[in-house]
Parts: sequence; C-alpha cells; structure tokens
Amino acid sequence: MRIFDPHIHMTSRTTDDYAAMAAHGIQAVVEPAFWLGQPRTNPGSFADYFDSLIGWEPYRAAQYGIRHHATIALNPKEANDPRCRGVLDLMPRYLDKDGVVAVGEIGYDSMTPVEDEVFAAQLALAIEFELPALVHTPHRDKATGTKRTLDVVKESGIEAGRVLVDHLNEVTVGLVKDSGCWMGFSIYPETKMSPPRMVQILKEHGPQRVLVNSAADWGKSDPLLTVTTANAMLEAGFSADDVDLVMWRNPVEFYGQSGRLDLSDIDKPDATFEGSSILRGGS
Ligand SMILES: [Zn+2]
Repeated sequence: MRIFDPHIHMTSRTTDDYAAMAAHGIQAVVEPAFWLGQPRTNPGSFADYFDSLIGWEPYRAAQYGIRHHATIALNPKEANDPRCRGVLDLMPRYLDKDGVVAVGEIGYDSMTPVEDEVFAAQLALAIEFELPALVHTPHRDKATGTKRTLDVVKESGIEAGRVLVDHLNEVTVGLVKDSGCWMGFSIYPETKMSPPRMVQILKEHGPQRVLVNSAADWGKSDPLLTVTTANAMLEAGFSADDVDLVMWRNPVEFYGQSGRLDLSDIDKPDATFEGSSILRGGS
C-alpha cells in the first residue's frame, strides 16, 4: 500500500513521526503553509517559515525516503492581522519555486471582510502562477463557510478542477461534489472526521475526486490516520485499487496539475542540506 498524505504540517512533528510514516507506507506528503499557533508579527517570520517548507522539511523527509512538497499562502487566520499583509508581496517569489505545488491553505477562518479580500487575492495568484489552490473551510459554521467559499472560488474564475476544498464532513461534501472541486477530508483522533465516518462518506459518494489527509500539526492529531483509514476502507470491502485511487492517485493527479510534483527516485534520500551538518543520528 502506498500512501500520499496531501495535507500534513510536518514542521510540528518529530523525526520519529517521519520514521513511523515511512514504515507504514507513507511515501509522499504535501505540507501547506499555516498558522503556527504563536501569532507572527511581520512578513520576515513568514519568509523564514516558507524557506523551511521548501528547504529544511524536504531534506528532513528525504532522510526517511519520503517526498515532500509544500503549498504557500498567507493563512486565513493571520490574514486578519495588518502586520502580516506584506506576506502577499512575498508570495510571488515562493510561488515560482520547484517544490511549491499549490497556493494554500487559503479560505476562511472567521469570514471577515479582510479574509474575503485576501482569499480573492490569493486565488488570483493561483491563476497567475498556474497553480492549483488548497482551500481550508472554517471549523465553525461549516455549511455557511463552505457555501461562501465556493462562491468566491467561482467568482475568481479559477477552474473548479484546480481547487481542493478541505476539512469537509457529511454536511459539506455534497456542496463541494456538485461544484466540481476536489474534496478533502482531514481525519482526526477524537473530534470531527474519524476513519469509520470517512468510510461511510466514501460508500455514499464514491472515491472519485476524494483526498484523505491527517492534517497532523501541533494539536491533538495523528500522522498515521491516513493508514488507519486505508485499512478501514479495505475492511469495509473497498478494493486495493479504490484505496490506491484515494490514497495515492487522486493526490498525485490534483497536485500534479502544478507540473512540479516530483515523485521520481522516491526512496533515495538526498545527500546533503545546505547549511546543515546532519540530521540522522543526532548523537
Ligand atoms: Zn492545515
């Protein structure tokens, strides 16, 4: 079984997580730029973070044979802080980089007018840089947030097939399916979407245009929940091919639209990382 986690925040995870993921068949990940918990106070903090997403993290992942790509954006929550607005000016520099396979995560947190503006501006960047877009849906008032998200996506003129709308559930899946966008589901250990609920959604809606991720970050989360969900699919009678479609081919097709997804030599660790001596061992 090969697994591609299309949304995971490895910056917040340990090297033990990389080792466990590799041991369970997770061979590729996409790490979206997001909110780090501590509010950032200037665009320079974002520049260092973006550099880490395209430099240090791919290197760290490669030590375990995992291919790492990133998405770049000003996240919806920090979009509300005027001190962070300059991040939009930094983005073109990063959207040109090889390891960047989408603009994201963008979308709504509290659905403020500023979020509207920043969301639209970043969809325009996705069009300009010919990149797909990863769109986060708010955790509160999900149905309203998702409807409004789909309206903004439509108004932007970006092709629906180049948009992944994430953190969906039973209430929002139908809306996104009808829109033609790709459907993302984040599986969590306790709250929100669980593996059995995900299997049920797959039974009702099928595996086409569906991506499953762990969204693991600094909160309570589990980077192996993609694997648990894949096994739950098999136990529920889905074929190995269905599992491969959801867990590998769908993310490859979606992010492959960037023209930058590099999955060649997937199990050859990179030899060096500029500016760093060695990661492995640590003793
Ligand atoms: Zn996320």
